Amino acid sequence: MNGLTEMRLRALSARLSDERSRFIGFPAALDFDAVGLEPIMRTLLNNVGDPFVRTWHGMNTKDFEQEVIAFFAKLFRAPEDGYWGYVTNGSTECNLYALYVAREKYPAAPVYYSSAAHYSVPKNVHLLGMRGVVVPAQPSGEMDYAALQQLAGAQMSSAAIVVATIGTTMTEARDSVTSIQRALQAAGVRESHVHADGALAGAYAGLLTPRWPFDFQDGASSVNVSGHKFLGSPMPSGVVIVKRADIERVRRSANYTGSIDRTISGSRNGHLPLILWHAIQRWGVMGFKHRAEQGLALAAYAHAELQRIGWDSWRNPQALTVMLAAPPEQLIFKWQLATADGWSHVICMPGVRKAMIDAFVADLGEVRPH
Ligand SMILES: *Cc1c(COP(=O)(O)O)cnc(C)c1O
Repeated sequence: MNGLTEMRLRALSARLSDERSRFIGFPAALDFDAVGLEPIMRTLLNNVGDPFVRTWHGMNTKDFEQEVIAFFAKLFRAPEDGYWGYVTNGSTECNLYALYVAREKYPAAPVYYSSAAHYSVPKNVHLLGMRGVVVPAQPSGEMDYAALQQLAGAQMSSAAIVVATIGTTMTEARDSVTSIQRALQAAGVRESHVHADGALAGAYAGLLTPRWPFDFQDGASSVNVSGHKFLGSPMPSGVVIVKRADIERVRRSANYTGSIDRTISGSRNGHLPLILWHAIQRWGVMGFKHRAEQGLALAAYAHAELQRIGWDSWRNPQALTVMLAAPPEQLIFKWQLATADGWSHVICMPGVRKAMIDAFVADLGEVRPH
C-alpha cells in the first residue's frame, strides 16, 4: 500500500468509528465480529444458481448457505422437508422473490399490503406487473384488518396475495398473519399466499413472550429476514424462505454453470452466507433471544428517559424502536435519525449502549423548549 492509500483508509476508519458512536436511528446491529473470517474475505466466492444444486464453479460456500437456510427455515417453522430459500442481497430482493413465487401461483390475484409496508413492496409489485391494493394502517402502524376484509371482499377475487410486515420501518409495528388469514376467510377468499416481510423483526418476533404470529405455522407461505439489521452482517444481505412446492412453478433453466437458475441474481455473493453462518455459530437461537431482550430493556429505558425530560414519545409493545417528536435538524444529522412526518425514532439494536442513549437524551435536553 502506498502512503496516500493508507492515509485515505485511515481517515475513513476514523470517520466511520465516529459515526458509529452515534448510530442509533437506523436498524443495524453494531456487535458483529468478523474474527476468523478475514482470510476468506480475500477469496473469490460465487454461489451462482440454486444453493442446493452444485455448480462446476467450485469457489462457493453453498454448504454454508444450506446451513443458514436450514437454520432460518427452522426458526420460521417451515415444513421440515418442504422448504427452499437462498441468501439474497437484502430484503428488497427477498420481497421481490416472494412476490414472484406468489404471482406464479396466483397470476391474477391482487397484492394487499399496508400503508406502513416498506417502499420495496410497491416497487416490486410494479416490477412484476401485479396489481397492488393499499390497506390502511392503524395509528400504531399495524394493518387495519377490518379494512383488509372490506377491500378483499369488494375485489371478489377468489385468490389473494398479502404482504404482512413484521416490524414496520418507522414504528416497528407487526402485522398478525393470524388476523390476516381470519380477515381473508371472512371476505370469502379461498386461496392465498401471505408473505411475512420480517426484514426488521423476523429474527426475534418468534422468540418473544408472547410470541408473535407471523411464521409458516401461523399461516405464512414465505418469510424473509435482513442480514444487516438485527443479525449484524456488515454488508447488506437477506434470507428468503419459501415452500419447496411453490418454486416448482418458478421458471428455471439449466445452463453452463451446472446449477439451476432459480434466484433473482445469477452470480451471488458467497461471502454473505458465510457471514450469516458465523453469526449463527456465535449466537444461536438463545443468543438472538438474549440480544433482543437486552434491546427491549434499553428501548424501555430510552422511552422512560424521553418521558422524564418531557419529550413527546411512544413505543409499540415489544419493539426496539422508540418514536419521538423530531428534534431540530442538527440533531437529526448528528444522531442519524430516520425522520418522517414530524417523527423520528431511535432503535435499540444490539450494540447500542446505554451511554449512547444518555448522550442523546442530554442533547435533547439542551434544545428542549422550556
Ligand atoms: C429494511 C427493510 C426492507 C428492505 O431491505 P433492504 O435490505 O434495504 O433491501 C424491506 N422491508 C422491511 C420491513 C424493512 O425493514
